[in-house]
Amino acid sequence: MSEPLVVIGNGMAAARLVDEIARRALGRYAVAVIGEEPRLAYNRVLLSSLLADEIAAADVELRPARWWRDRGVTLRYGAPAVAVDLGTRTVTLADGTALGFSKAVFATGSRPIRLGLPGMELPGVMTFRDIGDVDAIRARAAAGTRVVVIGGGLLGLEAAHGLAKAGARVVLVHLMDRLMERQLDDVAAAMLRRAVEARGVEVILAAETARIVGSQRVEAVELRDGRSLPADLIVMAVGIRPNAELAVAAGLRVNRGIVVDDGLATSAEGVFAIGECAEHRGQCYGLVEPAYEQAAVLARRLAGGAARYPGTVLATNLKVSGVDVFSAGDFLGQPGAEQIVLHDPGLGVYRKFVIAQDRLIGAVLYGDTSDALWYLDLIRAGRPIGSFRDDLAFGRAIVDRAAA
Ligand SMILES: Cc1cc2nc3c(=O)[nH]c(=O)nc-3n(C[C@H](O)[C@H](O)[C@H](O)COP(=O)(O)OP(=O)(O)OC[C@H]3O[C@@H](n4cnc5c(N)ncnc54)[C@H](O)[C@@H]3O)c2cc1C
Repeated sequence: MSEPLVVIGNGMAAARLVDEIARRALGRYAVAVIGEEPRLAYNRVLLSSLLADEIAAADVELRPARWWRDRGVTLRYGAPAVAVDLGTRTVTLADGTALGFSKAVFATGSRPIRLGLPGMELPGVMTFRDIGDVDAIRARAAAGTRVVVIGGGLLGLEAAHGLAKAGARVVLVHLMDRLMERQLDDVAAAMLRRAVEARGVEVILAAETARIVGSQRVEAVELRDGRSLPADLIVMAVGIRPNAELAVAAGLRVNRGIVVDDGLATSAEGVFAIGECAEHRGQCYGLVEPAYEQAAVLARRLAGGAARYPGTVLATNLKVSGVDVFSAGDFLGQPGAEQIVLHDPGLGVYRKFVIAQDRLIGAVLYGDTSDALWYLDLIRAGRPIGSFRDDLAFGRAIVDRAAA
């Protein structure tokens, strides 16, 4: 008889896990997937393109209903799990249904951080995490709508771009003194700022939001320095927090996220966690690639293998059309690291490579990111680069030609 496996969360990590299990151990598990959102799993990464009207809503679906049916998966979406009992080994859903499990996987992702500011409860303050958010933002953002986006990271920039494209008057407010400070150095961030401003987004850096002002609904954002920015809509994109409350209540070990070992196992026997809700070696990831790698490792283990997850070297691509930005690894450079920089402001090209002990450990590319994957492979493989270091900055084609 198949072993009951319950996956809590119906997002990108869960969908990939089911896919991997179906390919490796179909029939070994009776899989049930529980999703809070009232729809099939979709590609969250594409929400920025959906907001920018570059794709249709149907394009984000990861797998059609038939795909799940064909794999014998019981799908329960629109009903969040509200309790996990490790003693009786049951998961209870909000509608009262109880599902028994032999093994369970938390794949509950993250939720957006909402700053504890006065006025946050006013209608018109939104976050940008799921399809419901995109629908709500689009319903309010017509041409000429005044929007303040709070947060100059990847999500804030993509939201600002999408809204400006739709004709909204967008101001992006960022606490730090450069955009995407966790992925870009000063030079690349300044180039990005100019490109974003050229696309109609006003950028205000080093600006702390003090409160949201309005009587019946949002009217303005007030900054600590006293400036007031008129706003009909506010999109808050200041970071994410792992959804781990259910795991805490179940008695699992949780720091920031649900603590897992290299086998993605939590502190409880037969209970695992993957994706943004998991904390591995002290790190909670906020990108999809680690989630997919974790899903693949866990599926191999559930199929009887001995795979281990060593962590992921992160890489980021910004999805703002016409602005090509890539960053990976240690892009600032630890003490003692060397840097190769190629910068042509006229062409709008910037390439920075951080090297330590004859290996590429980080890179930032702005303007031309066509070799991004090649650089990422070099970083991940930790291959010595001494034999082609003089050509490294010029890209793969030059390196290959020199080697031929
Ligand atoms: C607009 C946007 C753009 C992005 N762009 C990129 C990008 O360019 N590159 C990149 O790598 N990453 C990007 N990301 C991040 C990426 O989408 C996430 O890393 C990825 O979705 C993580 O997968 P996950 O399964 O862990 O979480 P999710 O995809 O969030 O799935 C978790 C699911 O669990 C559900 N859930 C939570 N609690 C419960 C419960 N108690 N019961 C049942 N269900 C529950 C949630 O509702 C959610 O549907 C982007 C994210 C957003 C929002």
